[in-house]
Amino acid sequence: MMLKLFKEIRKTGCGTVGYPYAPLDLPKGYRGKPSHLEEACIACGACAVACPPNAISMELTSSQDQITWAINYGRCVFCGRCEEVCPTFAIKLSDEFELAVMSKEDLEESCAYPVATCACCGKPYASAKEIDYARRVLARAGGASADAPAAASGASAASTAASADVAADVAASLSKIDLCLECRRRDDGVAAVRHAPAQGGALC
Ligand code: SF4
Ligand code: SF4
Repeated sequence: MMLKLFKEIRKTGCGTVGYPYAPLDLPKGYRGKPSHLEEACIACGACAVACPPNAISMELTSSQDQITWAINYGRCVFCGRCEEVCPTFAIKLSDEFELAVMSKEDLEESCAYPVATCACCGKPYASAKEIDYARRVLARAGGASADAPAAASGASAASTAASADVAADVAASLSKIDLCLECRRRDDGVAAVRHAPAQGGALC
């Protein structure tokens, strides 16, 4: 091993890397400082849930009209979980590794997003961008399932029925997308009670 090193030194004239006087060649897939794209982020909170050391946090502001997304690079362990779970590719580990700062506060970054309020009770329940994103995804899924039976004219009755079920599920989800979880559950409970006698089911 040492012999190999001496040979390399004789060949190149250098036994170590040039950093910090020259840029450092980083390996492919190097996990450096997470870089957050504010515009692409929908403030869904998936990265905050996945982050093992709680370096990412999400909080409703005291005025309850915004959700703050924040990261503390001092806590980050560069595991890449945030990048893996982000649905919009808004967070990605970069090549940046020089993170020394004079003050701990300089290791923190944050941005704020408007919240969506429940159409029924008026409570803030998610970020407005996340709801818009979910609406677009559902609309696309609904469109795809509606097109499927037409596209596959020779499709079996079973697959046509499955596509109709998906379209119905999507339509049901879209109709409740403006409601918070509690109001949605209450709505579902009321609907279940309405349908139960017709189906001969017992009420609970
Ligand atoms: S890289 Fe890992 S530790 Fe750092 S912010 Fe992302 S999930 Fe958290
Ligand atoms: S997972 Fe992505 S979109 Fe969701 S809050 Fe984190 S960075 Fe934003």
